[in-house]
Amino acid sequence: MSTTTQDTLQKFIFDNAAVRGELIDISATWREVQARHDYPAPVKKLLGQMTAAAALLSANLKFNGSIVMQIHGDGPVSLLVVECDAELRLRATAKLSAGASVADDATLTTLLNAHGKGRFVITLDPLEKVPGQQPYQGIVPLDGDDVSTVIENYMLRSEQLDTKLWLAADDNVSRGLLLQKLPYHGGKAEATPVSEEEALETWNRAVILGSTLKEQELLETGIDVLIQRLFWEETIRVFDPLHPQFHCSCTREKVGNMLKMLGREEVESVIAEQGQVAVNCDFCGKHYEYDKVDCAQLFASADPVATLIPAGEAKH
Ligand SMILES: [Zn+2]
Repeated sequence: MSTTTQDTLQKFIFDNAAVRGELIDISATWREVQARHDYPAPVKKLLGQMTAAAALLSANLKFNGSIVMQIHGDGPVSLLVVECDAELRLRATAKLSAGASVADDATLTTLLNAHGKGRFVITLDPLEKVPGQQPYQGIVPLDGDDVSTVIENYMLRSEQLDTKLWLAADDNVSRGLLLQKLPYHGGKAEATPVSEEEALETWNRAVILGSTLKEQELLETGIDVLIQRLFWEETIRVFDPLHPQFHCSCTREKVGNMLKMLGREEVESVIAEQGQVAVNCDFCGKHYEYDKVDCAQLFASADPVATLIPAGEAKH
């Protein structure tokens, strides 16, 4: 298998514009995500599927910014997180609870929702914010036993969008299919020239075609073949392919800000004990070191919390 293969996200739309779809092969990015981690197989599968899903949703959004998709768990896995920016650059990581053991047949529920307290969180962070604007965040209970169901339920309840996802990931491959019914507002279509009944018919047909796709087939088949195989009887319009890729946005400055948030006392106690503070990026594994002088400089400059709040907005 070639490791230089470029990842591809292929958007398409049904001819009557009632349904839009996307197929993604994000295997190269997914292998980069795993390069510095050794996750148990069931965790790998969930994170690989989330990586594909984050890119699919991101490419579908009508806003310029990044999307952060998180599942906060209450079982052996405490967090799965995928970030995708406006240029479809992604990073992802998983955090296991201390001393956690993961059974080979573990599911999303046993890993992340063992006590019913798991949460699915989507954060949309626009690139250009007006001063004081907070990112939009949607938080819902984990509703479903696989990544696709959780996201489908979220999209329907929170965004009122009929969405279907088929996701598959293993050690080497991560692929997915998204279908979405274009929204009608008060009986009027946003972009659809057909009646609501016709649009619904197209949607139902598309979902039936999508549902013929089995997980193993998705793992074994390239998306250019899949698009033909699934929709050969339909008239669809295919757009120019997009190319997602791995990218970690960590910098020495951002890690420094994180240390400032921890507080001087905490950081100084680590220096007293170990002579320096060493931090590895959770996403890419990059190693950062701060000695006594570096830390003194960190705390000598302005408080990062204060710099995040515009003066006019600050309370007290
Ligand atoms: Zn990093």
